[in-house]
Amino acid sequence: MTTNAEAFDRARSVIPGGVSSPVRAFGSVGGTPVFIARAEGARLVDVAGREYLDLVGSWGPAILGHGHPEVVARVQEAASRGLSFGAPTLAEAELAELVRARVPLAGKVRFVSTGTEACMTAVRLARGATGRDLVVKFAGCYHGHSDALLAAAGSGVLTAGLPGSAGVPAAATAQTLVVPYNDTDALRTVFAERGHEIAAVITEPAAANMGVVPPEPGFNELLRALTTAAGALLVYDEVLTGFRVSDAGWWGLEGHTVEPDLFTFGKVVGGGMPLAAIGGRADLLDLLAPLGPVYQAGTLSGNPLATAAGIATLTLADTEVYARVDAAASTLADALTAALTAAGVAHRLQRAGSLFSVFWGVEEPVRDYASAQRQDTAAYRAFFHAMLDAGIALPPSAYEAWFVSAAHDDEVVGRIVEAFPAAAAAAVSSS
Ligand SMILES: *Cc1c(COP(=O)(O)O)cnc(C)c1O
Repeated sequence: MTTNAEAFDRARSVIPGGVSSPVRAFGSVGGTPVFIARAEGARLVDVAGREYLDLVGSWGPAILGHGHPEVVARVQEAASRGLSFGAPTLAEAELAELVRARVPLAGKVRFVSTGTEACMTAVRLARGATGRDLVVKFAGCYHGHSDALLAAAGSGVLTAGLPGSAGVPAAATAQTLVVPYNDTDALRTVFAERGHEIAAVITEPAAANMGVVPPEPGFNELLRALTTAAGALLVYDEVLTGFRVSDAGWWGLEGHTVEPDLFTFGKVVGGGMPLAAIGGRADLLDLLAPLGPVYQAGTLSGNPLATAAGIATLTLADTEVYARVDAAASTLADALTAALTAAGVAHRLQRAGSLFSVFWGVEEPVRDYASAQRQDTAAYRAFFHAMLDAGIALPPSAYEAWFVSAAHDDEVVGRIVEAFPAAAAAAVSSS
């Protein structure tokens, strides 16, 4: 047994910041990160043996709860047959079929290991397909850490306060046009001026990496109309929302009203293993090597343990699972609003399906990155630590969505709700 502080010291001496991904270091909430020893259902256990109820869910993948016995059994079974072959497997076709059954617009699917790779590949594919260079992204949307997409990105980049990143050459983002989310005028202007040079618009169809910022009515429809008119492609980055906010992600929840050309998936589709995907129109996907001229590859792409976890997760994530996740999210969001209101904490809670987050010290709707940044992160810091002291692990940044799972049953949800009033009081005294 060791303490988190001892673990952090040891990790920091060999790993930059002690972590393999920046937000885990608690930089924006302060304090010592919790080092996890194991997790089961809605519970995490740290290296000191302390238990927490988890609202991070590995940042999305754990929709069934941690270590679902059937998922673990499928992975163990796969592991017993070998860890990696560097050759095709039928499990890849099976997982691609499961994806296509839920999102029929994903006529073909290519597997990679991370959401970063999926988005990077989608952009390359769009450029290869159109013969154009410009890519439009929205400020505060996060599409992984590839150079071209690290302009005004959300998630860890946002909380770390990095303006983008050192080490990204200006040339790498020179072909990336950044537009405010939900800003239809700015979008129309960009298309009026440069539409014929634009390869693609990449968007989080419901943004959740600057806090949760849903699209305003008609926004995604406008994206489709402008891209179609300009001969550009529309990429729905559903790495976070895919197979989480509904069985067919945001596209499904939206009611199939917008038909993107390409999708990127990650997180849930890999069931907690390193797996992500690009899906979309078959004629576009067939432009990827070996059939087409757009190169993409990966030693561990379509890894058999990862595909086993993905197949098991998508198979188990049925209507009941989504209903449970929605119900748990609703109860938590309503109770949180009530507790903050009762304590007199100015806040704005926003939802996109089962995803939600709170903007602290803000009451007007948050519709873009600029309005998201008006929040008071000191209030969240106090709230976060009061919850952690009560044994509840929230995302260690005010700019992240809260994630629930099917393992968040009434008892778990009830225990989280019970902790809200004291944490809300702590948030008040911080400001
Ligand atoms: C998490 C995320 C990514 C990046 O995925 P990684 O697997 O962390 O590389 C890309 N886009 C969105 C919308 C995400 O939420």
